Amino acid sequence: MNAIEVQHLTKTFGKTTALGDISFSVAQGEIFGTIGPDGAGKSTLIRSLATLALPDSGTIQMLGMDLLKDYKTIRTKIGYMPEIFSLYQDLTVEENLEFYASLFDISIADNYQIIEPVFRQLEPFRKRRAGKLSGGMKQKLALSCALIHNPQILLLDEPTRGVDPVSRKEFWNILGDIKKQGITIVFSTSYMDEVSICDKIGLFNKGKFLCIGAPAEIADEFADPIYLIKSAQLYKVLLKARQWEGTRQCYMFGDSIHIVFKDGSYSPEALKTFLAEFADAEVSAVEANIEDCFMNLLNSERHG
Ligand code: ADP
Repeated sequence: MNAIEVQHLTKTFGKTTALGDISFSVAQGEIFGTIGPDGAGKSTLIRSLATLALPDSGTIQMLGMDLLKDYKTIRTKIGYMPEIFSLYQDLTVEENLEFYASLFDISIADNYQIIEPVFRQLEPFRKRRAGKLSGGMKQKLALSCALIHNPQILLLDEPTRGVDPVSRKEFWNILGDIKKQGITIVFSTSYMDEVSICDKIGLFNKGKFLCIGAPAEIADEFADPIYLIKSAQLYKVLLKARQWEGTRQCYMFGDSIHIVFKDGSYSPEALKTFLAEFADAEVSAVEANIEDCFMNLLNSERHG
């Protein structure tokens, strides 16, 4: 049995289609990442799974139960961490945790071993007010609060947004530890590099999944060769390369440019000749990664 099974889920707000007939499943114990830009519909999806946004149509099964019929039971078996961490800023670390535990009629001690991998670093700050914690610490406290009742499914809405890079990496390790306890994790993000911690990802845009699969499978499906261009005049080179007849797609990629050719009849040498006015421009082959796949899928959506 899958932990989560979503069929034809649709949710609109007035004229905005936040979720447009989406179907997917998440296996028990899997980490599933929903990756997409702002406004794509990620929060609405996570909120729907958390029983907080009512679908217009479609079905959601969580742990074999129907979300609409069994939402009360489901709520005891899921942990939800909203995008804006739902902490009481005036309460201490310990008081926040006690509050969330009390909602489920348990004490912190009952389930301490569940939150221990996350809470370990917060121990010295037990008496500090939540409002006085750093972003990374707030994130860990919010996660501890979402976990304290020992949920079977953890739903995290952009848990690493606005968190510093070091805390972000720590957070990935923590999710790995939580997964080892058999908890199914669904999270949303706009950071492409977070695919590395996922068993399965869904690239999400405008209320729809453009593709779903294991990160390596998705990257392998990208059949066209990709080339990388380096130059000191990156932006000028980008504009020029976009004018080349062999260019299907060309975009900035960190401190370089990635270019996809229309077909195999175009060569890197021909591109280099076209860019001859930029003496330092170097063209070399690279492996496609998830960001390239996303750009490619967005491009095919635009051009049909
Ligand atoms: P994301 O989390 O990917 O940024 P959201 O799920 O927050 O995306 O939003 C998807 C779309 O739905 C956006 O266009 C947003 O403005 C709209 N939307 C989300 N929640 C509401 C709401 N409560 N009322 C009206 N529009 C909403």
